[in-house]
Amino acid sequence: MPIVTSITKLLNIRVQLNEGGMQWVGLPRLVAAVSDAGGLGILTALTQPNPDALRNAIKETRALTSKPFGVNITLLPSINPPDYAGYARAAVEEGVKIFETAGHSPGELIKYFKTNGCIVIHKCTTIRHAKSAAKHGVDVLSIDGFECAGHPGEEDIGGLVLLARAAKELKIPYLASGGIADARGFAAALALGASLTSVHVGTRFMCTVESPIHQKIKEKIVASTEQDTVHIFRTLNNTARVFKNKVSMEVVSIERRPGGAKFEDVRELVSGQRGRVVYEKGDPDYGIWSAGICIGLINDIPTCEDLVLSLEKGVEEIISDMNTIVVKAKL
Ligand code: NAD
Repeated sequence: MPIVTSITKLLNIRVQLNEGGMQWVGLPRLVAAVSDAGGLGILTALTQPNPDALRNAIKETRALTSKPFGVNITLLPSINPPDYAGYARAAVEEGVKIFETAGHSPGELIKYFKTNGCIVIHKCTTIRHAKSAAKHGVDVLSIDGFECAGHPGEEDIGGLVLLARAAKELKIPYLASGGIADARGFAAALALGASLTSVHVGTRFMCTVESPIHQKIKEKIVASTEQDTVHIFRTLNNTARVFKNKVSMEVVSIERRPGGAKFEDVRELVSGQRGRVVYEKGDPDYGIWSAGICIGLINDIPTCEDLVLSLEKGVEEIISDMNTIVVKAKL
């Protein structure tokens, strides 16, 4: 039975489950599959080479699903700074109503989306940042624990503590993000936030039939454990959790040299264009690719529909088991 919360009502979705924005992964087929399965699919704007290509991706997604979906715009240091305003304008003009922002100084973008009547979800890795984003007028926060793939911030706070603090202190709805790939994590997130929460799932959706990445990378995820990710860019104040491979370990060793590293020292290794080839050609050692610790929980490659249904069913079973334990304890 669907769990109705302020988030499912606000986003007009059946299951309180979002697919997080993922560079090179958040493409129309996956987005539509997540939305059709009852969650919220999110197109990753910067995966498209320019704002016009994003317009086409939005049209393509709309041709595949009649359900709501969103667009992610991430503002982080970049080798070639993207035209953020152009991507935002293209998506708003194409009628997108839900945006996910992440990274630094999103104030102007948030203002633009709110002026255009859109719903804004903003990713935060501390309660301090979450409160500041709420003051900027965002509708929903995505609270990202240390476990998450990509950029977890610099303060290393695990989801368990972060989400419990969010439940106590935040006044607007939020998504639990980082480390959630199965029904146990999903149910735990609900327990931590009750009716305000929903979950945000990234790496788990990379490993689905509709995910656009190469089959060999999906199989690599299945074969990996929770020990197969590593933080890079720690010393550059732009920490990113990525798959542990030859390239990421070389970056870490360059960063550990006496005197440290400058971005130029690792630029060729970490370039997103090189990471993209990993997904296209299926060579997990070719470049940097994002992955969360939850790869240790991923053992199969289901369709998005099967995944969402099994997560829903699993959560119901866990809640029912908990009720049974409570009833037995009272007898
Ligand atoms: P890119 O090739 O420009 O950079 C590769 C990596 O290096 C990124 O993690 C970037 O943040 C980092 N970087 C770039 N310049 C840096 C600097 N001067 N100091 C420290 N770190 C630096 O990035 P890309 O992979 O082609 O991605 C393009 C854009 O999409 C970037 O702005 C990136 O931040 C963003 N992105 C979005 C998502 C998402 O999930 N939506 C995920 C990863 C990256």
